Amino acid sequence: MLGEFDLVEPTSVAEASEVLARHGDAARIYAGGTELILAMKEGLIRYDYLVNVKTIPGLAGVRVNDDGTLRIGGATSHRALERDPLVRERFPVIARMESDVANVRVREVGTLGGNLCFAEPHADPGTLLMLFDATVRIERKGGARTIPLEQLFVGPFETCLEPDEVLTEIVVPPLPVHSGSAYLKFGFLERPSVGVGVAVTTDDGRVREARIAVGCVGPVPRRMREAEAALAGQTAAESRNTLAEAGRIAARASDAITDLHGSADYKEHLVGVLLRRAFEQALASSDGSGAP
Ligand SMILES: Cc1cc2nc3c(=O)[nH]c(=O)nc-3n(C[C@H](O)[C@H](O)[C@H](O)COP(=O)(O)OP(=O)(O)OC[C@H]3O[C@@H](n4cnc5c(N)ncnc54)[C@H](O)[C@@H]3O)c2cc1C
Repeated sequence: MLGEFDLVEPTSVAEASEVLARHGDAARIYAGGTELILAMKEGLIRYDYLVNVKTIPGLAGVRVNDDGTLRIGGATSHRALERDPLVRERFPVIARMESDVANVRVREVGTLGGNLCFAEPHADPGTLLMLFDATVRIERKGGARTIPLEQLFVGPFETCLEPDEVLTEIVVPPLPVHSGSAYLKFGFLERPSVGVGVAVTTDDGRVREARIAVGCVGPVPRRMREAEAALAGQTAAESRNTLAEAGRIAARASDAITDLHGSADYKEHLVGVLLRRAFEQALASSDGSGAP
């Protein structure tokens, strides 16, 4: 049962931060509430004050800079991202991933900022956005910092945010020209068991750069740089021969853990399978020689 709490509706990030700082552990940011309210109803956590960041003007929304960089407000819902014409046109892989998060009721109110800040390991956006070298802007009263998204995740349900900090923006640079990308996931429970994102940039028939991110299987989503290096510089044909080895490297580096979603061995196997499929899809959409 949900206990009593005060709902604070700030009109600026500074005001939200001030309330959070004033009440310490008794206060928490509230966006869509799809995680927070659930955990409070279960009695797992309790707060006297919930600070609703959705009332802050300008914190939800999407825009694309002249250089093609996508800027997503921290309180933007999954549904808004899934439907946004600019995201669908310029970052279709993100729109597709968002359209497959949870169910439409959760997507309608759940926000990207809430998803990232909850740091539940079985989530999709963090893994995919890492492929783009996304950064996040974090603000508090009197200061702001921008960090790579990879650094946000410290452990399961743990980020590097201070209690009075608000994630205000996710900044997603475009991939280089001649790039293709794909995000694939597998799961049989409510949330994904394994998620793999791949971006491939081709140049004259070669893989100039491969980016690989793996999520859900271990404590935090991660870029797999050793596996990426194994594929870089190869022709499409050579890279296909290297995929099994790249899959093994990524599986080892993913720190897979055994849980309700499956054994660590099983998840490692799936990392290899999804990596190979995602690589093929990314290559095929990269204007490179991989197109069927
Ligand atoms: C049934 C179900 C199925 C799901 N399936 C999937 C799935 O397939 N894939 C997937 O990726 N996710 C899945 N999810 C997770 C879902 O995406 C998240 O619940 C949602 O994105 C969280 O957003 P929210 O706005 O509701 O966060 P809230 O519940 O409001 O907040 C979550 C946490 O983030 C903090 N927070 C929120 N916004 C900010 C901010 N701007 N700055 C700092 N801290 C902040 C809050 O203090 C809280 O600790 C599922 C959830 C449910 C309930």
